[in-house]
Amino acid sequence: MARRIAVLGATGSIGTQALEVAAGNPDLEVVGLSAGRRWPELVAQAQASGARRIALADAASAAAAREAWDGEVLEGPEGLTELIAGSGADTVLNALVGSAGLGPTITTLAEGIDLALANKESLVVGGELVMSLAEGTGAKLVPVDSEHSALLQLVEAEQGQRPGSIDRMVLTASGGPFRGRSREELEEVTVEEALRHPTWEMGGKITIDSATLMNKGLELIEAHHLFSMPYERLDVVVHPQSIVHSYVTLADGAVLAHLGHPDMKVPIAYALGWPERSLPGHRPLDLAEVGSLEFEPVDGEAFPALAIAREAGREGGTAPCIMNAANEVAVAAFLDGQLGFNAISELVARVLDEVDAGPAASFEVLVEADGRARAAAEQVLAG
Ligand code: NDP
Ligand code: MG
Repeated sequence: MARRIAVLGATGSIGTQALEVAAGNPDLEVVGLSAGRRWPELVAQAQASGARRIALADAASAAAAREAWDGEVLEGPEGLTELIAGSGADTVLNALVGSAGLGPTITTLAEGIDLALANKESLVVGGELVMSLAEGTGAKLVPVDSEHSALLQLVEAEQGQRPGSIDRMVLTASGGPFRGRSREELEEVTVEEALRHPTWEMGGKITIDSATLMNKGLELIEAHHLFSMPYERLDVVVHPQSIVHSYVTLADGAVLAHLGHPDMKVPIAYALGWPERSLPGHRPLDLAEVGSLEFEPVDGEAFPALAIAREAGREGGTAPCIMNAANEVAVAAFLDGQLGFNAISELVARVLDEVDAGPAASFEVLVEADGRARAAAEQVLAG
């Protein structure tokens, strides 16, 4: 029987690629789709995929979709909860952007439904809560992020070894469009330049996070929770070709790496099909054709966001949630032309300084900390 999937954030970069993966795979049946407000695209996706239920966060968009389509149209946060819990999905792909993804992640796992997780912010904001929920309900959480998909596959490959043989996990970073520039040179970069990512075609928010390296900071925290890996054993290396997706070093000094073309459909298909591996029509990697692979350390002075994230991750509790919220506000302000590039990480550092962190005891505590951090960030922007 086909696996039934619901795709949250279907109109985005990951969402549309997931629907392409599903369209080429008879083992996947799309039963539900969600978006924020782009209803014409969502309705077209429902018609193409055969899904009979959609959810839109925006009420006016939901009303317009109802006029245009005879399937079921849900709205708002409750509508999204209903889509997750009531669609009979075996796997939910969460490809929402930002901390708005945390609630749907929690709903999915609480329902005992397997989660293919692209929304890394869920783990950054509520990592402890999310992982303990997955453990408690037995729902499987499979990451979609390419580095973490690689690390999961390396952990699985290594499972025949004695426990504890993985020494370190190393995430690769493309370095983004500004690799090699000094902090001074970064002062004047434009939104357009920042949106021109060298190896990946992605949504606006993650593309800016990749340019500041905050994306890699979020991914460190994501890896920490997914693999229970202490921060001292997590590293980042810059690798401009994005061919090595991550690697692990073992106790005897050997290294296991995961390689492939930079194509998000591969980790998306892996997460949707887990534990089966199937992606017909993939392009095999020919290393002779690639020629050379380069690696270099991160320039921490030009890209302070990575160290800020590592520190917030180490502090734990609501610190990563506060950092994430400040970053979301800062990235939106940068995309809006209100804030310079270097000011993104400055704003995040300042909010982390001003807003007190505490234990991340519940979903409500996290929502409250997220709100406080956003308010503090808006205040800095207004001043
Ligand atoms: P996009 O911005 O392309 O898409 C975001 C999707 O979420 C859209 O469908 C959008 O709907 C919907 N959405 C946005 N805000 C809300 C909201 N408040 N409530 C409900 N729906 C909302 O993002 P990406 O696909 O690039 O990224 C999605 C997630 O995957 C992010 O967490 C990102 O970090 C992660 N990721 C992405 C990668 C990539 O290659 N793109 C790689 C690795 C991870 P609408 O169209 O109506 O606005
Ligand atoms: Mg990634």
